[in-house]
Amino acid sequence: MATLEADIEAGARRDLVGLSRAELGAALAGLDLPAFRTKQVWHWIYCRGATEFDAMTTLAKPLRRRLAEHFTISRPAVSKAQTAGDRTRKWLVAFPDGSEAETVFIPEDDRGALCVSSQVGCTLNCSFCHTGTQPWVRNLTAGEIVGQVMLARDALGEWPAAEGGQGLLSDIVLMGVGEPLYNYDNVVKAMNIVMDMEGIAISRRRITLSTAGVVPRIADAGRDLGVRLAISLHAVTDALRDVLVPLNRRYPIAQLLAACRDYPGGRNARRITFEYVMLRGVNDSEADARALVRLVRGIPAKMNLIPFNPWPGAPFECSTPRAIERFAAIVNRAGYASPVRTPRGRDILAACGQLKSASLRVPARARAG
Ligand code: SF4
Repeated sequence: MATLEADIEAGARRDLVGLSRAELGAALAGLDLPAFRTKQVWHWIYCRGATEFDAMTTLAKPLRRRLAEHFTISRPAVSKAQTAGDRTRKWLVAFPDGSEAETVFIPEDDRGALCVSSQVGCTLNCSFCHTGTQPWVRNLTAGEIVGQVMLARDALGEWPAAEGGQGLLSDIVLMGVGEPLYNYDNVVKAMNIVMDMEGIAISRRRITLSTAGVVPRIADAGRDLGVRLAISLHAVTDALRDVLVPLNRRYPIAQLLAACRDYPGGRNARRITFEYVMLRGVNDSEADARALVRLVRGIPAKMNLIPFNPWPGAPFECSTPRAIERFAAIVNRAGYASPVRTPRGRDILAACGQLKSASLRVPARARAG
């Protein structure tokens, strides 16, 4: 990591967003500032949403100027913003190296979940996922992950952050582009910033990390973050899951479920969510539903049944409403909540990866023309 002196020498200002409290303290100590300044600057950045030092009115003007000479408080740029008829909002977020990722806000009446991306593209190539058709580019930095939360709060006008994260942006789901457990260190750092109660203040109970099943990292996430866990399961046999979620070839279902059984908190009120995309004639039979119930027996669990949201050229179709109903009824009768996820933002292609892909198609069409 570049030192403050090196930054100053190079004329580069260091971005403070994404630094841990300890790193922020060290950066400010490099200007010989006392420790209490860390708390003040942290508060302005993460509780008040300041984007420039001049807004930090509890600091004397000469200090604000000095900070601005050495540091920045950045936000990712938004290259496209869309709002669906159902008020779902989606941002295509652009980073300085030209990479893009997407962030989606799904509002409910008095709260809402922000779906955050952790990588640019994804290596895992799940066959039902549009993101899997895009090339993997890189991991997002902790600042770029936190930046998505901050730009959403900017857009929602939710600064200062409501105490306990009870504003409209009340929940975070790490379900956007990428596999969060393949960008482990940056995701942990970013979520620790988001969970800091003197800042963005969204508690671990309101954060859900969704993984395709990176088994060795599941216990680490329980220990380091203790957030809710969601598993992209989607199939009840290894033969089918190998096709739908190719990571299964490395970490088959039995290993994955063993890691879920051991997940800290899994035995108390924090149930693990199993995501199951409903694919017509592929994984949606009554026998599949019964097998699903048998598989998760003993795990405090909830099933999230997701009607497949097809994209042009997708190799699957969505299950019929009747098939979904029958599947849900079997899972419900076995004592598991099995809400069918209402498709949100369909008119703006708010399913994972679709905004990015739509924008990628434009140059291709332009070339064809
Ligand atoms: S479903 Fe998730 S893990 Fe699988 S390809 Fe899509 S983004 Fe990657």
